[in-house]
Amino acid sequence: MDKLEKKFKETIKRIGLNKEKKIVVALSGGKDSTVVAYLLHKLGHKIEGLHIDLKIGKYSEECLKKVVELCKLLDMRLHLYDMKKEMGSGMCYLRTAIQTEHYKQKKSQIKNCAICGVIKKWILNKAVRGLKADYIATGHNLDDEAQTILMNVFKGSLELSASSGIVTKNISNKKFIPRIKPLFYIAEEDIKKYSKKNKLPVHYEGCPCAIDSYRIQIRNFLEKVPTKQKENIIKNSKKLLKRVEKKSEGVKYCENCGEPSRGKICKKCQLVGICA
Ligand code: SF4
Ligand SMILES: [Zn+2]
Repeated sequence: MDKLEKKFKETIKRIGLNKEKKIVVALSGGKDSTVVAYLLHKLGHKIEGLHIDLKIGKYSEECLKKVVELCKLLDMRLHLYDMKKEMGSGMCYLRTAIQTEHYKQKKSQIKNCAICGVIKKWILNKAVRGLKADYIATGHNLDDEAQTILMNVFKGSLELSASSGIVTKNISNKKFIPRIKPLFYIAEEDIKKYSKKNKLPVHYEGCPCAIDSYRIQIRNFLEKVPTKQKENIIKNSKKLLKRVEKKSEGVKYCENCGEPSRGKICKKCQLVGICA
């Protein structure tokens, strides 16, 4: 068995994923989510795909093409969330409106990916819950996780990484669909090689809106760091987090949209509400 497949299988085993569970894979058209769907399918799991069409011009068109191709290849059902139809505007328009209002009110900038990430997460949870799935599978890999931990360290908020792992903890919130990350221990470079070796339908070009994000700065910083050391970032953060891990703050729902939220109003409603 391929080394990557072996690691993937071990992670699935540690998650304790049962073949009866319905898993919706968040498909972006990129290599990571494509490999997740391909391997879950290969291992005989019950999967469906969900793609959020962000309407970021040509980039989104190409991503959608690859997702459709993959679903045909795996004979997998595809659910499409069209942002323009569902939310009234595509990501670029919505994001610009939020950024303009945010700047007017707070005189500070809010980065593209920070807005897009919050909105995508909100859509994903709501849409997958509507599909009555047991899990959302995402394509987060070892590099993503090491970046997130360092971002939180630099922001002085390592505790924000407490819930991160191969499966989301603190799932007492009934509206929150547990997320699994089967590529958690696999390096980005190995995923790319694997997707190419297996000739998977992948859009390899990056998102044109991914400019000036904090994550990109951290990614560049980690670029030359060997995989072993990235694994160490994760291992050591787990040790430290054991000391800072906070108890669950209980179930909370957004007073505006009713979705799971850390505060009275969820992050998505705070952002969208700014331009209402
Ligand atoms: S790179 Fe940033 S803007 Fe582009 S899809 Fe991802 S989160 Fe959104
Ligand atoms: Zn809300």
